[in-house]
Amino acid sequence: MSETDPRLRKMFEAVAQAVIAHADELTELDSAIGDGDHGHNMTRGMQAVLGELDALVAKPWNEALKAAGMQLVMKVGGASGPLYGTLVMTLGKSLDTPPTRDGLTAALHAAIEAVMARGKASAGQKTMLDVLVPVSEAVSAGRSPAEVAEVARKACAATKEMLATKGRASFLGERSVGHIDPGARSSQIMIEAIAEQLGDAK
Ligand code: ADP
Ligand code: MG
Repeated sequence: MSETDPRLRKMFEAVAQAVIAHADELTELDSAIGDGDHGHNMTRGMQAVLGELDALVAKPWNEALKAAGMQLVMKVGGASGPLYGTLVMTLGKSLDTPPTRDGLTAALHAAIEAVMARGKASAGQKTMLDVLVPVSEAVSAGRSPAEVAEVARKACAATKEMLATKGRASFLGERSVGHIDPGARSSQIMIEAIAEQLGDAK
């Protein structure tokens, strides 16, 4: 099957493999302030994407992202499945193909707005948005992939001291403080993998 853009396969593989490699850590984080399924949920979604990889990479970027987002909605489950699915599908709907820097900035902004609307949440509530929002701002500000990855790392670490007011962790109230949010960590892992690919691509 012909590939529209060889970078697409590398990007999907890098993201999926990074998440799968950290599944146990995501499960541990979710065991502390949730129900312990985040590693399993994300692995199921990433394996679905890898299973569809040949068909996905035969599509243009935007169509491939829309299809991958659908896989995430169907396979990840939990609260994070529809949210990551919305993120990736909206990226696909909004991205120009092949992607440009301006196009990526606008698409990321639109995708994060869609996640906020879907989850009725915003930054500051100890969720994936506490990584995604500062990352989107760093991309808008023209930061390099390595700088964006560093923003994501710091933003993820900062969720440790936050009080959860959305999602399952919010049921714990004050006891949610002192643990990194699992969705913030999975977002950071994916962003780091993407940043590494973009950094290598030149
Ligand atoms: P569940 O909470 O249903 O078990 P997961 O464990 O797969 O689902 O995902 C939990 C993660 O989802 C949380 O760590 C948080 O980052 C994210 N999350 C939950 N609710 C929301 C929301 N309303 N908006 C954004 N992210 C959310
Ligand atoms: Mg969970």
